[in-house]
Amino acid sequence: MKGFERIIVVDWSASRAPSPKKPGADAIWMAVVHRSGATTCTYHRTRSDVIEALCAQFDEAIAQGERVLAGFDFPFGYPKGFARAVCGKDDPLALWADLAGRVEDRDDNTNNRFDVARDLNRLFPGVGPFWGCPAPLADADLPARGRDRHGHGMAERRRVEALIPSAQPCWKLYTTGSVGSQALLGIARLQRLRARFGGGLAVAPFQPPDTPIVLAEVYPSLLADVVAARRGKDEIKDCAQVRVMADVFAAQSVDRLDAMLREGDAEEGWILGAGHGGPLRAGLHGTPPPLKNDCFALPPGVNWTPVDVALADLRTRLGPVVGVEALPVADALGRVLASDIDAVRAHPALPNTAVDGYGFAGGRGAGVHRLPLVAAQMAAGRAPDMVVPEGHAIRILTGAALPDGVDTVVLQEDVTRDGETVAFHGPVKQGVNTRAAGEDVKAGGRVASAGRQLTPADLALLSAVGVGEVQVRARLRVGVLSTGDELVPPGQPAGPGQIYDANRPMLLGLLTRMGHEAVDLGHVADDRAALSARLDANAGKVDVILTSGGASAGDEDHVSALLNAAGAMALWRIAIKPGRPLALGMWQGTPVFGLPGNPVAAMVCTLVFGAPALAQMAGAGWSEPQGFQVPAGFEKRKKAGRREYLRARMRDGQADVFRSEGSGRISGLSWAEGLVELPDDAAHIHPGDPVRFIPWAGFGVC
Ligand code: AMP
Ligand code: MG
Repeated sequence: MKGFERIIVVDWSASRAPSPKKPGADAIWMAVVHRSGATTCTYHRTRSDVIEALCAQFDEAIAQGERVLAGFDFPFGYPKGFARAVCGKDDPLALWADLAGRVEDRDDNTNNRFDVARDLNRLFPGVGPFWGCPAPLADADLPARGRDRHGHGMAERRRVEALIPSAQPCWKLYTTGSVGSQALLGIARLQRLRARFGGGLAVAPFQPPDTPIVLAEVYPSLLADVVAARRGKDEIKDCAQVRVMADVFAAQSVDRLDAMLREGDAEEGWILGAGHGGPLRAGLHGTPPPLKNDCFALPPGVNWTPVDVALADLRTRLGPVVGVEALPVADALGRVLASDIDAVRAHPALPNTAVDGYGFAGGRGAGVHRLPLVAAQMAAGRAPDMVVPEGHAIRILTGAALPDGVDTVVLQEDVTRDGETVAFHGPVKQGVNTRAAGEDVKAGGRVASAGRQLTPADLALLSAVGVGEVQVRARLRVGVLSTGDELVPPGQPAGPGQIYDANRPMLLGLLTRMGHEAVDLGHVADDRAALSARLDANAGKVDVILTSGGASAGDEDHVSALLNAAGAMALWRIAIKPGRPLALGMWQGTPVFGLPGNPVAAMVCTLVFGAPALAQMAGAGWSEPQGFQVPAGFEKRKKAGRREYLRARMRDGQADVFRSEGSGRISGLSWAEGLVELPDDAAHIHPGDPVRFIPWAGFGVC
């Protein structure tokens, strides 16, 4: 028996309008897991759109001699007797053909499902079995309430639904949790696929699953706990459901999946895997890795991880690993605050003057004003220890506190001074040229929160509000190790076939700029024993290790081989260009990020994955790269299914990209001032189109 190279799971929807442009819940999602490891999860706004995508998958599979299993989350059949009542025989696929003839489901999702249900109800005695619709559409034949049905003679549930009490009956067409409308519209659509793919397509369990394309009914809530456990932090639930269900089926043995497809009720249909929760989970887990060490483990079948899923995983699996120490504010530049900071005193602490001039109380109307001066002068730093009598003025200099009797200051350029008096023209508004106490920061107000990496401006603010010492995280110690027989340290003679180690100085520099303590762990040859010894020697001394090179699955890829042997490794083949192999593992309790050897890929992976992950470990919390939309200064076509980063810089208000995308072109890294991020979908970018530019600083590299 040949297994399936492609497993597809679709989350269906009966929506009567296209779903929103922005991917969200309660819409159509389709996951495709390919035997090669590629996983994609796509959002579709209409039924006709997902059917088109499915046909493309089926066509491609057939062209490549592959088999596809496609699962849909709606009932494929109805309780016993329904098919006979509608089309005269106990044949579920004759019922499919009948329903397809009744349903009109247009490209924009508008459809006649309630009319179809009403017509079907008329074939039965009494009222029902279908029910549920918007109130204005309800009538004697299609009741809005389930309890208004009677005498139709149909069972409420199929046999399979008796096994799974949470599954909803197929008669309910409307509101929460209903699947009735999904089934009517879905069956009609799938019937068209049957017509198109003919004998190459079978519907389980009505037909033997021996064809290149097999359709089956699936129910994600069957494994709700597994979905919840594997859902990425920001992953949309529907996306997680189809992705995880596809993984689950992809992880089953050929024989078990085949047996499951053959079982069930040949008239009513069956939920694939119903009653086999245990074996389904067991197939998924295989041999569990040791608990403490498994923080990077990926479920089997997941290989081409989308960037966002990889990021969400890292985010949930990593936490702060560094301790806390107290430092004078002046020494805390670049450190991560371990606690929130409140102002010890207000800023400004006292009302004071913003200019050099003359202070007095109250505003003045139009015309000339002449005020006698008191003998004193107020300069910054002097305590406001005098009172200025009503109708008098005082000489006062920028930053000086306002003494009692002064709330307004006139600029020195706007007065004439004549011995003991000062004269100026009104009107002058009360309070002008002064600063109120606490107008910037109130005493006790929050000035900085835990997790903030202190900037020079933060040092100014903390100092200004009277904070002298701060609790900060110890710097994250990040070791950098290069691997490869071909590498020679910069500055030494290089033989033929040798290259200079470019990654190490680059990575050490990036880490320093991110605010971490970069520790040079040198270079090791492609030698498993030497690499293992170097990791042993440093695992406890640094908080995390970045290696470059040897991270794929080739003969000389010792980093991934070693981490794998340690039993705590996941090779994340991430759908990213440049980049791809990212080996993540634990070495004696120390996380190891195995970066690609290619310098361009190593840098992109460090920025995209390393920067937020290291920030999280450093206690700064997850850091999203900060980019902005700018017009493209280039044209570019990209394929769907992977995120791409182009070396870029801003010139004349637009993003220019490096002339070559070659991942060996270090000169392009040096030329660039940031990256243009192109989304996972296919795109054709024209000059002037908005693209996302992330400057190096947006990745926290300052
Ligand atoms: P690997 O991932 O080990 O297969 O390496 C991929 C490519 O990156 C090869 O062409 C290596 O020679 C190159 N490479 C690996 N490490 C470095 C490094 N530290 N500096 C420059 N190039 C490197
Ligand atoms: Mg290598």
